[in-house]
Amino acid sequence: MTEKSKDQLRDHVERQLADKGSLLTFSPMVKARYEEETGTARCRHLVICGLFALALYNVFLISDWRLIRDISDQALIVRLAVVTPLALLIVAILLRNPSPFVREASQTSISIIVTASVLYLSSTSDSPLAIYHHFGVVLVILFANVVQQLHFPYAVAASIGTVALYVGVVLNLDNFPGEASLTAIMIMIGAAVFTLIANYTLERQLRLAYLLGLRDRLRKEELEALARIDPLTGLGNRRQLDRRLDALWTPTAGASTPVGAILIDVDHFKAYNDNYGHPAGDLCLKRIAALIAGELRGTDDVAFRFGGEEFVVILARTDMMDGVRIAERIRKAIEAAAIPHAYSAVAPYVTVSLGVSGATPESTVTRDEMILSADTALYAAKRNGRNQVWPPRGKAAASVTHIREVRR
Ligand code: GH3
Ligand code: MG
Ligand code: MG
Repeated sequence: MTEKSKDQLRDHVERQLADKGSLLTFSPMVKARYEEETGTARCRHLVICGLFALALYNVFLISDWRLIRDISDQALIVRLAVVTPLALLIVAILLRNPSPFVREASQTSISIIVTASVLYLSSTSDSPLAIYHHFGVVLVILFANVVQQLHFPYAVAASIGTVALYVGVVLNLDNFPGEASLTAIMIMIGAAVFTLIANYTLERQLRLAYLLGLRDRLRKEELEALARIDPLTGLGNRRQLDRRLDALWTPTAGASTPVGAILIDVDHFKAYNDNYGHPAGDLCLKRIAALIAGELRGTDDVAFRFGGEEFVVILARTDMMDGVRIAERIRKAIEAAAIPHAYSAVAPYVTVSLGVSGATPESTVTRDEMILSADTALYAAKRNGRNQVWPPRGKAAASVTHIREVRR
């Protein structure tokens, strides 16, 4: 995720939190993140609940056997050969993490299918006990709104569909007294309303908790990034450098692959600052940082601000010869930028001196020794006239000796 889209996401989350009325309709950006982070778990929840519910639905064959024995064959067919395969098909769809619409709509439809199947059996039977068969439908509403926690609009659709079917069938049931059907319908509507209220409240709370958690995580990420970045140049700071070296100096990082370090110091920068002013000095450092970053390869090379007018580049999987070659490229790029510096004793433009060192994490050389060695090389470059890389190409092969010198 880019910094810009992170900023946008943070902004959307704050706005969403400020406007609590919109909790059930996240903005597309927040919704995408919400789905990305919760979608799979929700599908898993629906599959597990769904399989339990399917088992319970088929256990109701016992109730069919007691109440509507005249059509027990049909009950077997409807439950086991029609609804069960449909429910398993929906389970199979859920296992593929479908879009939120397919996920919620399939759940809504299976609720309505189950209701229809039960009511079909209640109204088809001629048994005098059939009038007691339809009460099970209340479980469908409970299941959809509270256990599955269908997203609120789908819960409303499932409840309306279920109650409408129920009212239609109960009013037309033979032998069911009108007074009793009124009570049955009121109970069903009451169950739908209560569970919809529970559904709405729960969904709001879940979404609010999600947003608060997301805001915390985004803030933490932002703070961590800020703590690792040098605000002037945008390069990583010393802390970030330590993390990079930690990552390279672990056995898993490939202990025998060489690591290079280039320490870069701007020549006569005090004179630049003193004559052009501190703001101009800052601008110059920014430009140099960009020029250094522009010369690096992929993710193996990373530049950091070491402090003041010093930079360090850490080169993964790079031996001393390549390190010196890359340092020379950086030196030339800064020279070619020809940033005017009338007060430099080296050239009429800004130049840098560079010290290169290398080590392999498995050797006895520590990371601090590698940096110190680059610092010693930098000092040599300064002493030797500045605007140059040390060691020069011809001497780069002697890098190991170079590090030993430092350790002594
Ligand atoms: P040398 O060629 O030997 O490196 O000489 P130098 O003048 O570059 O070295 P010195 O260490 O004497 O001066 C470094 C200067 O860098 C001192 C300070 O004013 C300047 N400097 C350090 N950090 C910043 C910064 O963040 N912004 C600006 N504008 N100047 C800085
Ligand atoms: Mg310096
Ligand atoms: Mg300097």
